[in-house]
Amino acid sequence: MEITGGLQREAWINKVMPPVECVAEGIWSVPVVFPNNPMRYTLAYLVVEDEDCLVVDPGFDSVQGRLDLTAGLRAAGVTVSDVTGILATHFHTDHLGMARWLRRWSGAWIALGKAEIRYISAFTNAWEETAADRARMRTWGVPEDRINEAALDVDGLMHLRRLADADLRVGDGDTVPISRGRLTVVETPGHTPGHICLRDESRKVFLSGDHVLPRITPNVSLEMRGDPDPLRSCLQSLDRIEGDEGFEVLPAHEYRFRGLSHRARELKSLALARSDEVLALLDAQQHPTVWTIATKLHWSRGFPSLSGLQLRLALSETAAHLQFLRTSGVGHDVEGLPVRHMNGAPLLG
Ligand SMILES: [Zn+2]
Repeated sequence: MEITGGLQREAWINKVMPPVECVAEGIWSVPVVFPNNPMRYTLAYLVVEDEDCLVVDPGFDSVQGRLDLTAGLRAAGVTVSDVTGILATHFHTDHLGMARWLRRWSGAWIALGKAEIRYISAFTNAWEETAADRARMRTWGVPEDRINEAALDVDGLMHLRRLADADLRVGDGDTVPISRGRLTVVETPGHTPGHICLRDESRKVFLSGDHVLPRITPNVSLEMRGDPDPLRSCLQSLDRIEGDEGFEVLPAHEYRFRGLSHRARELKSLALARSDEVLALLDAQQHPTVWTIATKLHWSRGFPSLSGLQLRLALSETAAHLQFLRTSGVGHDVEGLPVRHMNGAPLLG
C-alpha cells in the first residue's frame, strides 16, 4: 500500500486537521470536523465540473463542520449556493449529516444507494423498534443494567429517518448525473446495507466511503431489518473491488492511498481471522451468548472500556461474526440469531 495523502497522514499522526487539497482534476478533498469522535474528521469530496458541483459525504452537521465545508468550497472556487448535487456513500451522520443543511441553501438533489433508502424506510414506528431492539439485547445475554446504554435510542432513530430523505436512488453501474458523467456507482454492502462507492475510470480515482479505509477496519454490524448476513456481504463487496488496481483510493476518513486490491485482501483476512477467534470461543463455551463471546474477544482498549454506542457496535459486530459462522455451516445456534422481529419472522431486510 502506498500512502499518497502525505499531508493527510502527517495531520492524522499529529492529531490536527489536514489541509483542503485538489486531489485530481476537478476533485477536492475537504476535511470536515467529526466532533467527539476518534475519527476526528470526515473527508468530504467536491467534484467541480462545468456548471456542476457535487459534494460526496458532506460530513457531520455542526457549526464548525459548516465552516469547514464552506472553506473547502471557497478553495475550489465555488460557494454553497453553487452546489448542484449531494451524494452520501451511506446514511451515517458523519457522511449524510450535513446534507439537509446544504440542500436548504443550494437546492441541490440528495442521492443515496437504493438499498440504503430501503433499509432506513423500513423503520416506521420508533417506539416499537426500540422495544424490539431491547428484547433482542436480552436474548443476546446483555445484563439488565447494561441494556439502556447498548439499546437503540428513539431520538437517534428519528434523526436518522429525517436525514435519509433522499431525492435520488442510485444503484450498481448508475452514472452520477453531473455534467461529464464520469462517476459510476459500485454497490458495496457490508458496513451498511446500502453502502456505495464511486469509481472514476478517466481520473483513476475510487471514492471508497467507509468500505475501505487505510488504517482501521470498518465496523460490520448485524442489525434489525438490516442485511441478514452483513459480514458475508462485506467480504463479497471486497471481492468486487479487488481488480481496481492502479486507482487512487479516496476514503472518507484518515488519508488517501494506492493499493486497493492489497488493502481489500488485508481487510478480508482480518475479518476471517476475527471469525476464527469467535469460533474458538464458541467451541469453548458451554452456553454461549453474543454477550459472553463479546466479553472474551480481544478489543483494542479492552471490553470493560466499551460503553454506550461503542458497546452496541461491539455486540452487533460479534453477532455478525456468529451469523457468518452459522451460515458457513461451522457455527452453532446462538440465542437471538438470526435476528428476529417482534412477530418472530426472520428479518430479511
Ligand atoms: Zn464514517
